[in-house]
Amino acid sequence: MAASMRELRDQAREHLGWENRAPERYDIDGIVRDAWINGNGSEETWKTAVEKHHRRFMVGDWVRITVAEDGFTEHHYGPIENFRKPDGNYYRRNVARPHAAFVHPEYTHSHVVPLTDLVEEITDFEIITEWSEVHEGGPQHNYGVYSCMGAHGPYAPPAKVMVIHKISGRKKRFCNDCNTPDYRARFADEALHFQRNSRQTISELRANPELIAGPTTEPGRSWEETPADEYRSWADAFPWLVPAAAAAAYTEWRDQRTAVAA
Ligand SMILES: [Zn+2]
Repeated sequence: MAASMRELRDQAREHLGWENRAPERYDIDGIVRDAWINGNGSEETWKTAVEKHHRRFMVGDWVRITVAEDGFTEHHYGPIENFRKPDGNYYRRNVARPHAAFVHPEYTHSHVVPLTDLVEEITDFEIITEWSEVHEGGPQHNYGVYSCMGAHGPYAPPAKVMVIHKISGRKKRFCNDCNTPDYRARFADEALHFQRNSRQTISELRANPELIAGPTTEPGRSWEETPADEYRSWADAFPWLVPAAAAAAYTEWRDQRTAVAA
């Protein structure tokens, strides 16, 4: 006797488990139908069915959206609240391939974003788990061990991971409990705030990259930082925010000074 639909579903879930896939992220009935009922059950048919019925995004998944605001490209993070049809309406039942997601990040208005424009938040971070790397150069007063920077108050446990925000290169150490999409998004939001606070400087350097290569002293006022010095200290603090042309001008300025000094 042929296996019942229920048995086939269980088998499919089991197969997915062997492949280290989370069954809840797949349309099980779709896989059973394509691989085993209509399909010939071969490894190739299975693979195609699994790929076709994978739900890349689900409600509650944290995603990054890219928003253009006043000439600045911003990254915003939030969980998917629901899915929308091309006409903006809700779906009445679960669909494997929804058109768009509704996301309401903390620092921008809510957006309906086509699924093709969504990015899993985790792709914006590198996660280091090697203890020696996580605690490299750790604080002496704490036996060289960094504490978690999550919300623990004064008694934070040791950090277990180092999270690197790829775009900014900034690093933050967390325990496993705090290494969540929520905390990672807040960490990325810090870079967003630096960007927002630097808009004026970025605009000035976009318009005139050479400002960053100006003199370090002004006649008779050698004790004061010049405007160019201020651009340079800003660039040292936020290298990922420096417009490309200004970054090139800064490198050239630095090389010339090294050459003169040598
Ligand atoms: Zn923690």
